Amino acid sequence: NLTDRLERSFKILKGEGKITEINVAETVKDIRKALIEADVNYKVAKSFTDDIKRKALGMNVLTAVKPGQLMVKLVHDELAALMGGKAEDIDLSGNPSVILIAGLQGSGKTTFSAKLANYLKSKKGKHPMLVAGDVYRPAAIEQLKVLGEQINVPVFTIPDSKDPVSIAKDAIKEAKKNGQDVVIIDTAGRLAIDEEMMKEVESIKKAVSPNEILFVVDSMTGQDAVNTAKEFNDRLDFNGVVLTKLDGDTRGGAALSIRAVVDKPIKFVSTGEKMETLDVFHPDRMADRILGMGDIVSLVEKAQEQYDEEQARKLHKKIVKNQFNFNDFLDQIAQIKKMGNLKDLAGMIPGVGKALKNVDIDDDAFKSIEAIIKSMTPEERENPSLMNGSRRKRIAEGSGTSIVEVNRLLKQFEDMRKLMKMVSGGGAKKFGRMMNQ
Ligand code: GDP
Ligand code: MG
Repeated sequence: NLTDRLERSFKILKGEGKITEINVAETVKDIRKALIEADVNYKVAKSFTDDIKRKALGMNVLTAVKPGQLMVKLVHDELAALMGGKAEDIDLSGNPSVILIAGLQGSGKTTFSAKLANYLKSKKGKHPMLVAGDVYRPAAIEQLKVLGEQINVPVFTIPDSKDPVSIAKDAIKEAKKNGQDVVIIDTAGRLAIDEEMMKEVESIKKAVSPNEILFVVDSMTGQDAVNTAKEFNDRLDFNGVVLTKLDGDTRGGAALSIRAVVDKPIKFVSTGEKMETLDVFHPDRMADRILGMGDIVSLVEKAQEQYDEEQARKLHKKIVKNQFNFNDFLDQIAQIKKMGNLKDLAGMIPGVGKALKNVDIDDDAFKSIEAIIKSMTPEERENPSLMNGSRRKRIAEGSGTSIVEVNRLLKQFEDMRKLMKMVSGGGAKKFGRMMNQ
């Protein structure tokens, strides 16, 4: 399934020191396949993953400690952004506000109409009225009446009338008279796109100028949902989408494609037959769903934060007590090396950035430093003040460097300790965190 796929694709990046052209290309290919399997339209998936690739490669600098997690977060955030970023409200400014519901037969229009009425009544303090505009099937009118009774919302009908346009107009008059401030017009659908149906909804639109036209679509219909959305939007220029039946095992990829293809916001999601199972659409939750990973992203972020805090705290304590030693130094070098571009990183350290500005450094710069430190005994690493002439000579020989280089490192180390002590009055925590990022 999709979760496994993504986990596998992200594993490609796990353990890799930094994001490179190659591991990004591999991962992106897998993400694309996974999205297509989740019903995301091919073109949408392609342009989306191309975007991800560009962004991932553009940020290999500081954040690449855990490239796999970084990619998860990047994909998640981009998915959410593509779906509109934040939840969008419906327009309730009319008096009454008129909301027209359109969509194929069986998509969930009638159920949604009632749920919306219930939502507006209980959550928004509105006084809605439901209008039975599906005049062809007596059972459809009955269905709406039953739901209306259940939630205690009036249902407007004209018995035996086969004219949804005049029903809609009369309903609005009636609502005005009775002080009902939202009129929700349920309409007839067809099993497939059909000229007659489109004309009917168009003429209702013309007659009542709705504040909102909401297009209802069954999320289980996958790619068809996208085509249907496009056709309805071409004819009706609707304001928003309602995704139904998300309680099934659908991944919700249709949401992404619809948003990308018709460029209209998804406003509600319906997750069951009960009246309470209606939610305002949240792009980030849908991104979670498409990725199939629940709260993993936020857990990852939290864990990362805690880890950083803990490391920074330990480091800070050592710096304040002037106990920062060669082992810590080695740790820091290992951290820094994991992060990729050294120069950019160094530039973030207060007081160091400027000094290094014109120096060309790369990962190799640490090689001899590491060799020297590793040639020290554990006691020497713990306690740099032990270092005398004969120890320096032994270390130089052991590390294949020279006494000059050893001396230089020891001097740099002392300077660094001083600098750290200096900034430890409050800057050190920040400093430590940066070193651990
Ligand atoms: P309409 O033809 O567009 O008016 O669709 P209906 O509202 O009559 O819904 C068609 C069927 O889908 C009914 O059996 C509903 O109970 C069911 N349904 C509607 N919305 C949902 C939903 O979000 N989840 C589930 N599981 N079933 C739904
Ligand atoms: Mg219906």
